[in-house]
Amino acid sequence: MALSGIQIFKMMPKKNCGECGVPTCLAFAMNLAAGKAELAQCPYVSDEAKEKLASASAPPIRTVQIGVGDSAVKTGGETVLFRHEKTFNNPTALGCLIATSESDASVDGKLKAFKELRYERVGLTLKPDLIAVKDAGDPTKFAAIAKKASDAGAALVLISDNLDALKAALAEVGKNKPLVYAATAANVDAISALCKEYDVPVAIKASKVGDLATMSASLMEKGHKDIVLDSGSRDLAELVRDNIMIRRLALEKLYRPLGFPTIVFPCEMADNPVDEAIIAGTFISKYGGIAILSDLKGELLFPLLLQRLNIFTDPQRPMTTEQGIYPINNPGEDSPVLITSNFSLTYFIVSGEVEASRVPSWLLVLNTDGLSVLTAWAAGKFVADLIGPFVKKSGIEEKTKTRKLIIPGAAAIISGDLEEELQGWGVAIGPREGAHIPAYLRQNYA
Ligand code: SF4
Repeated sequence: MALSGIQIFKMMPKKNCGECGVPTCLAFAMNLAAGKAELAQCPYVSDEAKEKLASASAPPIRTVQIGVGDSAVKTGGETVLFRHEKTFNNPTALGCLIATSESDASVDGKLKAFKELRYERVGLTLKPDLIAVKDAGDPTKFAAIAKKASDAGAALVLISDNLDALKAALAEVGKNKPLVYAATAANVDAISALCKEYDVPVAIKASKVGDLATMSASLMEKGHKDIVLDSGSRDLAELVRDNIMIRRLALEKLYRPLGFPTIVFPCEMADNPVDEAIIAGTFISKYGGIAILSDLKGELLFPLLLQRLNIFTDPQRPMTTEQGIYPINNPGEDSPVLITSNFSLTYFIVSGEVEASRVPSWLLVLNTDGLSVLTAWAAGKFVADLIGPFVKKSGIEEKTKTRKLIIPGAAAIISGDLEEELQGWGVAIGPREGAHIPAYLRQNYA
């Protein structure tokens, strides 16, 4: 049974020292109860309290890491049913299936796509995460493809019901912590022993959620911490239902055997790539921790990555860019100086248009708490008495002799106040629309 923040607080040291990252033990206890902090962050909890709190304060859905280093992928760790309640934490990991029955050209083509399909979006790199290698009766090739995929920087899922094949692959890539798929009622003891030997996460598969919970509970008793669940269904409606049931039982009833991320296989649920992508999209929204596709095609992967970005972005925190000076097109001491807000979308549109103009420019970005220019102006965050001191302290005067600040056309109303505030500078009103920036810069500053 979960403990409330107050119940947890009663067991805290009450030193209010702040070493856990929040100022008081009460705030820490509340974070612990909400699954937003870990007990280990407080160095002063007594052993007795630790024992009582350890299981009560564990997150309702465990975060499972697959892979190591730069290729590590985290899945699970969710604390809410709906994104608007707080945020979803670990984006659905998207992977591509490679079977040992495929030709070398197909294997190489998929690995090439895995490495090359990268998209820059609002300062983030969107890309696939995993390769799922499936043994189709050739253990030697299975291990060889696993090694190749690992060398390509992929976190791995090793799919086989042949213990010898799994052993061969784990001998090659076990240190990179692949997910072993899957323990079933028929082989659970052997797979459990193998996963414990290599200390790797294990996926379990059953034909009903109830059986899945039984198997999960038995693995937990054996000491497995990192488990991934497959309810076994390959029917869209049933699998959505299973995933919702698993998420609800984990979060609302704190039912530990189902407190793990799920894996789904759109590649086994459709006979064409478009339907497969639609199914993958369904499970990005409905609780798929890992989704395995049959191939990586940019035209289908990119929309999925964008959908994932939207779903797993914190709805309560606008995406922001750091306040500062951004040189674009290698500017010098005579280059124009523009200013905008730090809402990421605004920054990337403006910086993209300035870059497209090919006019060397300095772009100043003011911290407006992630609000766009007009909203920030209305909220008193993009106004003369904040912009003036920022420009003076930013260091731009050491970089350029230019003393004219180009403000967004949408904030033209502040130009008079800004000229008064920003002594020694003139103010020019730039375009209202980002798309008009290249023509404006070329006309006035090229
Ligand atoms: Fe309290 Fe521990 Fe945090 Fe210090 S580190 S404020 S004692 S919870």
